[in-house]
Amino acid sequence: MIEIKPSIVEDFTFRGRRFYLKRDDLIHPLFSGNKARKFHYFFDKDLTSYQKIISHGSSQSNAMFSLSQLAKLKKLEFDYYCSHLSSYVRDNPHGNYKMALKNGMNIYEGEPPQIFKDNELFVPEGGYFKEAEYGIKILANEIEQWVKDNSKKIDIFLPSGTGTTALYLQKNLKDIKVYTTCCVGDSEYLKKEFFGLCGDELQHPIILNTPKKYHFAKLYKEFYEIYKELKIAGVEFDMLYDPKGWITLDIHKNSFQNDIMYIHQGGILGNITMLKRYERKYN
Ligand SMILES: *Cc1c(COP(=O)(O)O)cnc(C)c1O
Repeated sequence: MIEIKPSIVEDFTFRGRRFYLKRDDLIHPLFSGNKARKFHYFFDKDLTSYQKIISHGSSQSNAMFSLSQLAKLKKLEFDYYCSHLSSYVRDNPHGNYKMALKNGMNIYEGEPPQIFKDNELFVPEGGYFKEAEYGIKILANEIEQWVKDNSKKIDIFLPSGTGTTALYLQKNLKDIKVYTTCCVGDSEYLKKEFFGLCGDELQHPIILNTPKKYHFAKLYKEFYEIYKELKIAGVEFDMLYDPKGWITLDIHKNSFQNDIMYIHQGGILGNITMLKRYERKYN
């Protein structure tokens, strides 16, 4: 059985500035990052009344891999729907997709069902749901404990997809400010996502923007460059969210009053696919 233990906090120096890194990527090799936090609720829950987990999203999603792992641990079937599955991915499985298949995932091309039986557990795309608060509250408690033990004043930063992690962190951290940036849609989209989970705007994180617009999962030379620079500085980060995160931090570096704690949300397994694409384009 996997144990979800508190993640460590490390010092990390990048471009001459000190950060604290909350290493959620190191929680466990098979169940880590913010998906481990989002699905912690199911991890602790008795799921024996269910026969299968059903979800949907992209064929390289970190949530897909984490759910395949959860299903395996809980001895459930796992059906996953991709609106589009390229023949390249189908014929050359790698990264999250390959590992999820290994865990017994049943893959379907098309839209997910709309109605579910009592023994089917549906998980929305990317883990955008209220059950995610359970595990993210545990993360918030770990951070508060660390701040107390080390007598620090910090601001938190993490990049967002659906915004679930940033939102529930801010909601559960009373005296610490949470900053984020949007990686999937624009800030209007992210704001809507926040409201979908919490109607009280005072509990929403602060969204920071970049002058340039980036589209999710597209390749940008500056993303590849900062990914490599971070790796040389000592830590590998995900290539979909974190490059935008660090670029945003760099642009806004003078607007923070305190030291920054950056939440490392995992996702390294997905880099295999992205690295192949980047190497083909830029090397
Ligand atoms: C899923 C994921 C995100 C986005 O998390 P949200 O809670 O949807 O904002 C960010 N980084 C990594 C590495 C992820 O896997």
